[in-house]
Amino acid sequence: MDIWHPFTQHGLNEPIPEVVSGDGAILRLSDGRELIDGIASWWVNTHGHAHPKIARAIADQAAQLDQIIFAGWTHPPALQAARGMRDVLPEQLSHIFFSDSGSTSVEVALKMAMGMWHNLGTPRERIVVMEHSYHGDTFGTMSVGERTIFNTPFEPLLFDVATIDFPSQGREQVTLDALERHCADAAHKPAAFIVEPLVLGAGGMLMYSAETLSAMYAICAAHDVPFIVDEVMTGWGRTGSMFAFQQADFVPDIICLSKGITSGALPLAVTACQQRFYDAHLSSDKAKMFFHSSSYTANPMACAAVNANLAIWRDEPVQQRIDHIAARHSEAAQRFADCVHITNIRQQGSILAMEIVMPDSATSDDEDKGGGYLSTLGPTLNAFFIENGIMLRPLGNTVYILPPYCITDEQLDHIYTMIERCIEVI
Ligand SMILES: *Cc1c(COP(=O)(O)O)cnc(C)c1O
Repeated sequence: MDIWHPFTQHGLNEPIPEVVSGDGAILRLSDGRELIDGIASWWVNTHGHAHPKIARAIADQAAQLDQIIFAGWTHPPALQAARGMRDVLPEQLSHIFFSDSGSTSVEVALKMAMGMWHNLGTPRERIVVMEHSYHGDTFGTMSVGERTIFNTPFEPLLFDVATIDFPSQGREQVTLDALERHCADAAHKPAAFIVEPLVLGAGGMLMYSAETLSAMYAICAAHDVPFIVDEVMTGWGRTGSMFAFQQADFVPDIICLSKGITSGALPLAVTACQQRFYDAHLSSDKAKMFFHSSSYTANPMACAAVNANLAIWRDEPVQQRIDHIAARHSEAAQRFADCVHITNIRQQGSILAMEIVMPDSATSDDEDKGGGYLSTLGPTLNAFFIENGIMLRPLGNTVYILPPYCITDEQLDHIYTMIERCIEVI
């Protein structure tokens, strides 16, 4: 029996390192090597690997109650998680729906919006999305994401969406005008607009301003188009604030959360919505209920991990750690600005991203951003970083650091230095 790994071309015979343990920002391989986890194990880990408080909470819950049907039943860790989420989210986001992955949390958000319009007797069919977005790999989330080589074979089955341009610097108004046009289109009134706030992750760590985010919200609000923020990556402190939308002055209609919700220890997701989505499904008529569930919805052990995560946010100086990383990143950005092989340096909180270019082709090509996933530098850089004790997984030519918040100054310094030195292999 062979394992078929995700996003892995086995035909290239690239080595597949075997990780046997983790501790804080360090991963240990079966051959004894140690790597610094510079990407929080694909953006999920916030407080470091094998955090004792989270490990303990999961173990205790496993011995108490491991799994229970959630359709029509409940349990203490879920009730506690709902109370805890209420403390970190604005009160307008009054209802939370549990699921088990980021993709599912997005599917749920889209179904909440479509379901509401349907139940109100004013069905709407169109979703507005942003160019270069990523919302997951299921059919619904592929449909609302960027059409790339990732989903070419499935394209015939993806539903139509309206796409607005990414608001790159200087072109924000083009994006806002397009959003306004789609929202005002009475013949195809959008059911919702979904967007990754401030940072488009898989699209290449593309960043835009809080001001543009606010302006997009204002347009949607003026036309009564629900505003869904996909904070699966940006949530839990990544962008400097607990949630990215908090850097702008609005409350979204629906928020999707996963990844850091358990500090990356177990799969769980939450879709939180405002009252009217819930109310539109509230009836004595079963045909109007929200038809969605997955077996592991609100799994008790995963909820226990959420509760331990929330306790860490309350009890440990997490915000201080994030601010410290952000300050270190800003200093490093200055250093990188002098490197001939580094361009387009950008930062949002604990995320520092840049393009690595061949020194003789040092141009910043806007059009290639995000589309360069299959470009040649990725694997070379990947191998270079592993050889030098770092797990960084460039998105094509985009190298980014997105660390667990417990990362030390020495570990960060080592990553910065190796990024400076990666010119040796390109
Ligand atoms: C990772 C990610 C998803 C998908 O989450 P999964 O848990 O991998 O299904 C959705 N949206 C964003 C913004 C993500 O970064």
